[in-house]
Amino acid sequence: MFEDIPVEVGLVYEGERVRKDDMQVELGGPHIAEKFELVQVKSGDEVNDGAISIIGPDISTMEEGKSYPIGILVEIAGPRLERDLEGVIERRIHEYSNYIEGFMHLNQRYDVWMRLSKKSFRKGFNSLRYLGLVLIELYRNDFPFIEKIQVTFITDPEKVRPLYTKAMSIYEARDERARGLTDEEVDTFYGCDLCQSFAPTHVCVITPQRYANCGAISWFDGRAAAGIDPDGPIYAIAKGECLDPVKGEYTGVNENAKKKSMGEVNRIYLYSAFGYPHTSCGCFEGIAFFIPEVDGFGIVMRGFPDVTVNGLPFSTMADSTAGGRQIDGFHGISIEYMRSKKFLQADGGYDRVVWMPRETRERLKPFIPGSVYDAIATESDVRTIPELKKFLLEHGHPVVQRWAAGGGEEGVMAGEVFTAGELPLNAGGFWIILKNARITADRVIVKPVRPGKIGEADVHGTKRQ
Ligand code: SF4
Repeated sequence: MFEDIPVEVGLVYEGERVRKDDMQVELGGPHIAEKFELVQVKSGDEVNDGAISIIGPDISTMEEGKSYPIGILVEIAGPRLERDLEGVIERRIHEYSNYIEGFMHLNQRYDVWMRLSKKSFRKGFNSLRYLGLVLIELYRNDFPFIEKIQVTFITDPEKVRPLYTKAMSIYEARDERARGLTDEEVDTFYGCDLCQSFAPTHVCVITPQRYANCGAISWFDGRAAAGIDPDGPIYAIAKGECLDPVKGEYTGVNENAKKKSMGEVNRIYLYSAFGYPHTSCGCFEGIAFFIPEVDGFGIVMRGFPDVTVNGLPFSTMADSTAGGRQIDGFHGISIEYMRSKKFLQADGGYDRVVWMPRETRERLKPFIPGSVYDAIATESDVRTIPELKKFLLEHGHPVVQRWAAGGGEEGVMAGEVFTAGELPLNAGGFWIILKNARITADRVIVKPVRPGKIGEADVHGTKRQ
């Protein structure tokens, strides 16, 4: 099937990582502002079937070890193709390019990040044309109703820029189309298996009010994909009985999770980051991370270049969040889910969000209640947790009321998780430092240390003097 490709192509290469030292070139990624991948349904006469075009430098002329802009435009035609399928077909770029030996593809849409290994380059993979050939072949194989397909790669920065802007408006129009419908109005949700090759216990549930973590698949996309390819990776989930409308727990979702995760995940709360949170694979657009010191959530998006208010960068928290696990207080999310009225609704929604990057806060302004918008700190307002506490108090953030209810800074947190980069304990005259510890406790009392007192913290809630 792939005789013309100088490297191997197959499922076995999915999940392969290309480390910085092994990379020939990088396309997109965190150092490049404007990058995209986009699928567009066109009329038959607009598509030159099988054509592959490269606008800008090709891999063979790119400098080793450098990062380059990239736009991938896949145009398809066929009488059964609908606009609703564009997002789903676009998501397959991630899957298909990861089948290529020595080629890594991460993320989606405007966040794409690709690397080619030196080894595959030496074997002859020196042109984007090979990537185009693989995409065309696999699309034809999986979607026989695609009658015509052409692929364009854009690496010239001047040409990527206007197309990136256009792609952003197309993503926004797609997402907007999917807003308005509620979970209560449907009896079917959709699941996606695409990321199980990276995270075998990850069970993605897509509802009208919970966009996929990767930000690439809406409920409408799910419906279109499951309708046209019922045996494909995107499938229908009968919603079943609603067990908890606030947390978002459904019998059908639980049964599906059990089956798809081989018994690892038995319950899912769609709208909480605690208890049985939705699993996170690794493709999430952002992370909601719990900050126990203020009993609130920080939000960080992929691509945020700095450390967050808890002193950790996105990459460190992504390690704690990913892998198809249910981690209390580390929750993979998409931008579109943050526009949902059900965003973290069981945990307090935006009344519990205390920090996020300024750019994200501005982008979400129409969706964040005006009553709390100014009280959510950004990197321009605070750099540390003590500064954050002061900011929240000064701005009357709703989360401050939770401190009062729980005893203020000497607060009690019940049934939640305490996390810290380094957690110091004092016992028998020694300091014991737990690095990157995660401790679950029924009850934690946090009290400031005062001179003359020792042993202020006790996970059972009994004070020791
Ligand atoms: S994050 Fe979820 S919806 Fe998106 S590709 Fe992965 S499994 Fe599918």
